[in-house]
Amino acid sequence: MSAADLPHMSLDEFRKHGHDLIDWIADYLGTIESRPVDHQVQPGDVRAMIPDRAPAAAEPMSEILGDLDRVVMPGMTHWQHPGWFGYFPASSSPAAILGELASAGLAGQGMLWSTSPAITEVESAVLDWLVELMGLPPSWRVDTGPGGGVLQMSASDSTHTALVVARIQATNAGLDASKLVAYGSAQAHSSIEKGARTAGYNHIRLIDVDDTFAMSAPALRAAVEADIAAELHPIWVCSAIGTTGTTAVDPVAEVGALAQEFGLWHHIDAAYAGTAMILPEMRHFQAGVEFADSYTFNPHKWMLTNFDCSVFWVADRAKLIGALSILPPYLRNTASASGEVIDYRDWHVPLGRRFRALKLWFVLRSYGADNLRSYIRSHLDWAQELTAQLDKDPRFEIVAPTTFALVCFRHAAGEEATKALVAKLAEEPSVYVAPSVVNDTTFIRVSIGSTWTERRHVQALWDLIDSAC
Ligand code: PLP
Repeated sequence: MSAADLPHMSLDEFRKHGHDLIDWIADYLGTIESRPVDHQVQPGDVRAMIPDRAPAAAEPMSEILGDLDRVVMPGMTHWQHPGWFGYFPASSSPAAILGELASAGLAGQGMLWSTSPAITEVESAVLDWLVELMGLPPSWRVDTGPGGGVLQMSASDSTHTALVVARIQATNAGLDASKLVAYGSAQAHSSIEKGARTAGYNHIRLIDVDDTFAMSAPALRAAVEADIAAELHPIWVCSAIGTTGTTAVDPVAEVGALAQEFGLWHHIDAAYAGTAMILPEMRHFQAGVEFADSYTFNPHKWMLTNFDCSVFWVADRAKLIGALSILPPYLRNTASASGEVIDYRDWHVPLGRRFRALKLWFVLRSYGADNLRSYIRSHLDWAQELTAQLDKDPRFEIVAPTTFALVCFRHAAGEEATKALVAKLAEEPSVYVAPSVVNDTTFIRVSIGSTWTERRHVQALWDLIDSAC
């Protein structure tokens, strides 16, 4: 049987199912508020609705789409719900969904410029836009500077890439691979430790934090000096702008100066909070960014662009390409040989790459920078309002400064009362709030930033907290 004999749906049928699916998504988003935020299944429930074997005969698409409601929906946790206050947001938007759809429709491979120039050039243009929108060093623009950005699947990938490049540079310079050391704070995201481990670092130091949960620069210096004295090779350090636990901000400028003094690669992890840098009044948090070697942030967290979409910028793309470029004969082409084009396959570990930039391009254009700024400012304002309500109420204690749109608090009566409040909030179908632990103390994280959240939803959450205590 040739492909022509396969029972493809006709393009007319495709058009019809496409309309139905967009309607289904619009209905979902339009009614999402009436659903419980959390999934409604026990382990194995979804699997039990799926036959043990793949179907031997073709099934009609109407039946397949119908199973979105029957099989998938009960097992979905609704991250796009306006009562989503868990973890960090995984925001999306109609513009992003259309971009994603267009990307799937084109189904191109952007591993080389020549395999679809639009995939490469839209991506580099959009990431150059973001350099300016976020107040990053102009030299990070790929069109005019030595730096440049590339989209990756996740911040974990971006961080891992930075670790790999630093390691390759060090070993190329003759350093003993078994003696390389990477540093992050004790509050750094687990992707720092995981990235370092999988990139082959034998020594990973998680540096003490101060009482705002930011990395202590003196403790970092002491650790670097102790490692040098022990004849190890410190080569990589990460500053977080917005840690996962409490959105603490490490002293970027001090870490940058120290990295320059000792010759370390300085990576900035702004996975969540990077989006706030579109606001000029928030950029003091990244003061010193001009001395960083790399920077990652996730539009798929707070910038209305659905997963996966993580930006990775480097100050000097030659270092990245030098470490990662491998050119097998089957990828040789005249455009690459001319040196005039970007081949993103050299900017990360995978070869194949999809048209991720399309959804980000759609988002930035369909909202416009002014609206995006207002949107982020609203989240910051609502977080401050909730913080003020909690702060003036003697039943509660604020656990960490509300720097962005994450509010961290606990019950003033202690651990048991906080856990009881967590349990009561977990019973509420209209909200999703996740606890965390710092210094053996349980606290509640309220992360504001879901696309459809309005001030009234944050106020409703406050009412639930108030009545639960
Ligand atoms: N870094 C920080 C500060 C984060 O908060 C997160 C996720 O929440 C990550 C890295 C990992 O992001 P990703 O899931 O894109 O790997």
